Amino acid sequence: MSKRVEAIKQDPQVRIRNFDEVSDGITSEMALAEAARCLQCKKPACVKGCPVEVPIPQFIQALKDGQVDNALAIIKEKNSLPAICGRVCPQENQCEKYCVVGRKGEPVAIGLLERHVADNAAKTDAIPEIPVKRREKVAVIGSGPAGLTAAADLALLGYPVTVFESLHEAGGVLRYGIPEFRLPKKIVDEEINYIRRLGVDFQVNVAVGQTVTIDELKEEGYQAVFIGTGAGLPYFLNIPGESLAGVYSANEFLTRVNLMKAYVFPKYDTPVRVGKRVCVFGAGNVAMDAARTALRLGAAEVNIVYRRSREEMPARAEEIENALEEGVNFICLSSPLRILGNEQGEVVGVVCQKMRLGEPDASGRRSPIPIPDSEFQIDTDTVIVAIGQGPNPILTRTTQGLTVTKHGYIVADENTGATNIPGFYAGGDIVTGAATVIAAMGAGKRAAAAIHEYLLSKSNATVSQ
Ligand code: FAD
Ligand code: SF4
Ligand code: SF4
Repeated sequence: MSKRVEAIKQDPQVRIRNFDEVSDGITSEMALAEAARCLQCKKPACVKGCPVEVPIPQFIQALKDGQVDNALAIIKEKNSLPAICGRVCPQENQCEKYCVVGRKGEPVAIGLLERHVADNAAKTDAIPEIPVKRREKVAVIGSGPAGLTAAADLALLGYPVTVFESLHEAGGVLRYGIPEFRLPKKIVDEEINYIRRLGVDFQVNVAVGQTVTIDELKEEGYQAVFIGTGAGLPYFLNIPGESLAGVYSANEFLTRVNLMKAYVFPKYDTPVRVGKRVCVFGAGNVAMDAARTALRLGAAEVNIVYRRSREEMPARAEEIENALEEGVNFICLSSPLRILGNEQGEVVGVVCQKMRLGEPDASGRRSPIPIPDSEFQIDTDTVIVAIGQGPNPILTRTTQGLTVTKHGYIVADENTGATNIPGFYAGGDIVTGAATVIAAMGAGKRAAAAIHEYLLSKSNATVSQ
């Protein structure tokens, strides 16, 4: 079996000085060579690993036949955001994990092929024909991948859909979390413009639960609601020193840089202060993004402090590799105990404790155990906390009778997204906790189908003339 292709990337020393996309993807020749590695399995295990079951062998075959536009159409039957998923899906844990070629060698590079198809198919402003127009208005709350997918599918079914978004631009984490160098915002804009062309209305700067409640939306005539408000509330470690100047949550840091375009300062007046020595706590995608962003903003040294070992890091393998190439240091098996400040209340260091790994915990990963008398200090002037996020309670607290878990996540049926309130559906991170783009999209898709069933089952289900 021939070798798997590798994406063409900017040189690490060059890319840490800019915010341009790191990966250029693959050429058409490379795509054909990679497509030839696919065995066209009759029962493709890879499809089972994809949360939305993209018809992988079929799109690869179309690519092999030189039909890139057809390959895109095949992917879009299941995945409306392929240019995004091809870039950010953790493929090594999803489709590629199950590829049979991977049993004896390296799996087919499904993500790179998906991205190649999405980037190279002919661009068109055309939208599919929407055969019926329905009268029942549907509200979608939150414009991340869950909300965008639900909105697109409902619009294609003929419903008038309004998306309410609390921030001033749509896209959720795709817009404010994942940095430009991993997911150019031009791609997010293209996907959102497509959904606009389907007739979806976007109302930004509307925090549902604050500006307007769901009950008020019902009074305005919305007959079904999809809640896709994500899990954007940052967690902290609750250790001494977290309120010192120079400590950010990764969420705040990345939002300032991405959404408010601090990376083109002074053109955009959103300065973000990054010192010379930066410590990032955590080792998920959010931590990698924060660390690599700090480097690009001029930090001379960036340390990722993680309490488990490299093997347990939850970030995408490619991003861990990219971070290492760019010179991010990994201080593993270490847990921060306190952040040290000077007389001006500014961060000057972090005291950490060394850890060892014990038995696996509920997450299946080996749990970290503190090693007594193993404290050590890292000198630092900026700390970015990226240890996870939870749900923002603004909407759930103001929605009478909605069942939530003790941690504030909405309780919803796994297959339909139905909550305990008829007509109210939910999906994405607000139900599962922080997960993945494609999982959120899958939830939005299933909920859209269930909302359609629900509205059809109501006696007043109607079709406009
Ligand atoms: P979100 O994307 O969080 O969108 C929710 C939207 O709802 C937001 O725009 C928010 O402003 C809005 N909202 C919230 N409350 C209200 C309200 N009351 N009224 C109106 N609007 C509201 N996943 C991957 O698969 N691959 C990656 O590489 C990856 N990298 C990541 C990097 C970062 C920095 C982060 C933070 C996450 C990353 N993830 C990644 C995870 C992934 O982005 C999320 O799982 C996914 O975006 C969840 O989608 P969602 O639609 O549920 O919520
Ligand atoms: Fe793989 Fe993601 Fe594409 Fe599914 S959507 S085939 S998981 S890259
Ligand atoms: Fe191709 Fe691998 Fe899927 Fe088989 S499992 S169809 S080889 S991508």
